[in-house]
Amino acid sequence: MKIQAAVAEAPGADFQMRTLELSEPQPDEVRVQIKAVGLCHTDLGVRDNPVGFLLPAVLGHEGAGIVEAVGASVTKVSPGDRVLISFRSCGVCPNCETGQPAYCRQLLPMNFGGGRMGGGSSFEGEPVSSNFFGQSSFATRALTYERNLVKLPPDVPFSVAAPLACGVQTGAGSVLRALDCAPGSSIVVIGGGTVGLSAVMAAKVRGCDPIILIEPMAERRTLALELGATHVIDPAAGETPPAVRAIAPFGVDFVMDASGVVAAVQAAFFYLATRGVIGLVGVPPGGSQLQLPMDLAITFGMSVRGVIEGDSDPEIFIPELLALHKAGRLPFDRLITTFPFDQINEAIAQQAMGRVVKVVLLMD
Ligand SMILES: [Zn+2]
Ligand SMILES: [Zn+2]
Repeated sequence: MKIQAAVAEAPGADFQMRTLELSEPQPDEVRVQIKAVGLCHTDLGVRDNPVGFLLPAVLGHEGAGIVEAVGASVTKVSPGDRVLISFRSCGVCPNCETGQPAYCRQLLPMNFGGGRMGGGSSFEGEPVSSNFFGQSSFATRALTYERNLVKLPPDVPFSVAAPLACGVQTGAGSVLRALDCAPGSSIVVIGGGTVGLSAVMAAKVRGCDPIILIEPMAERRTLALELGATHVIDPAAGETPPAVRAIAPFGVDFVMDASGVVAAVQAAFFYLATRGVIGLVGVPPGGSQLQLPMDLAITFGMSVRGVIEGDSDPEIFIPELLALHKAGRLPFDRLITTFPFDQINEAIAQQAMGRVVKVVLLMD
């Protein structure tokens, strides 16, 4: 069927609104009418550095909408269901079977293969890559898969739900699942975008203290204090290790990096308490290298670990996040600014200038 899509044409270039022909659902596919989709840094990262993902492409991986058609083997959802579309996983590999689908053995081909697993784009006609995160939801319709989908309760607007699919889930999951910060533990969060601020909110849910955000933009530091940060540090104001140590003299138990800035993470080794853990969450430019101070790491029992999607199992974790939101304990809706879908390039410009934290595009 004919759909409208925002097509990534070339690195650094604006998205182009185009009419594409979306093929009919295969037996394992679900067609969703997209009502809202979040903009995540990974969309722009892939557009601007499309290693292994051929442009032109339809990106977008925080879709929310209404199931419109299902393939013959689909049983989890039916037309009319309200759904959130998260990342794709196989469901049968050892990591999926133990509740870690973000580390699915098929994660790369299923989410970044540029087409269906059997080959070929789900767009007909001229070549346009599809199946980004198993959805390509910068479009009015998307083909996706049962394991991407989480059903949404009727009282959750699509515009609020969308960022749960990646950004909020990643930030909150990093604290609540991956690092599994204990109540009373101390944490530094680096970077006050959607992922970092979601980590701050989750740290408050978990009862961490202190919760320190390092972020250069004053408005975001102010917002972080409202959302649960106990302290904020402006990295432009001077060396950060003494600033952290002034708050936590023995260092902090956890550092969660949402910035992907190598120099910012490098400094984090000097924030850590004994047996402290650094979680790498923000994606740096390809090929970035961190220098591990081996003697410190050994002497103080430090760890560094990478975290994808907050170690989330969306089927389990998204309902938990929705419950926290409903209880007023995870007010991530405060991060969201909505734009009409056809203003995607204006929205990206606003976000680049730091005027908005989380862009959600609306299809209606
Ligand atoms: Zn798997
Ligand atoms: Zn994302």
